[in-house]
Amino acid sequence: MAGKLPPWLRELGESIQVDNSVLEAMDLPRERFVDSSFNADTLAAQALPIGNGQTISKPSTVARMTDALMKCRPKKVLEIGTGSGYQTAVLCRLVDMVYTVERLRNIQLDSIRRLYRLEIYNFKALCADGTLGWKTNAPYDAIMVTAAAQTVPPALFEQLSPGGLLIMPVGEQHQELCVFNKSESGEITRRSLGSVNFVPLIAGVSD
Ligand code: SAH
Repeated sequence: MAGKLPPWLRELGESIQVDNSVLEAMDLPRERFVDSSFNADTLAAQALPIGNGQTISKPSTVARMTDALMKCRPKKVLEIGTGSGYQTAVLCRLVDMVYTVERLRNIQLDSIRRLYRLEIYNFKALCADGTLGWKTNAPYDAIMVTAAAQTVPPALFEQLSPGGLLIMPVGEQHQELCVFNKSESGEITRRSLGSVNFVPLIAGVSD
């Protein structure tokens, strides 16, 4: 119910067109996903640092990406770039199971701890190079990549179910948030949701 949403999410819902279920899923204590203390306005509006030079996406971007992905009614989602775990938490509230891959071990461990503290358990986390996807559990109904690259890693299209959607920021200097649809026959089509600014997708794992 829109009336139950906190003011920052009500305002977000007035500024962009997204399903109410997405706004409800975003009603999480955002301050718990960042290490340092930020004031409420900053938390509500901006991308925030989460350590190791990485950022938690701004709420309007989380809302748009989640809303776009939910159009294919996914039950099983692969997320590349766990980061703070905020986007993971939002997805966990909307789908049955989230498989999330992060290349930085310390960031991954922090995110798992945060999700458990919020009593969110319907996810599996892997510390690995997400450009390779997570083959063991493939195929996925939908895939969300929260780091940018010049092209979509081919393994991700391979691990996407026919009829599924993949959303990812594509480009280097100038990035576009792209939604890719894989048809029943395996054909890929693409549309853009506009310009975005994400940290880069980096191949390989690091400790
Ligand atoms: N969705 C996150 C924000 C992600 S920031 C949130 O809600 O907080 C992007 C994340 O992608 C960073 O944590 C970065 O370490 C990770 N990343 C970059 N390249 C990667 C790769 N090849 N595989 C897995 N994770 C990667």
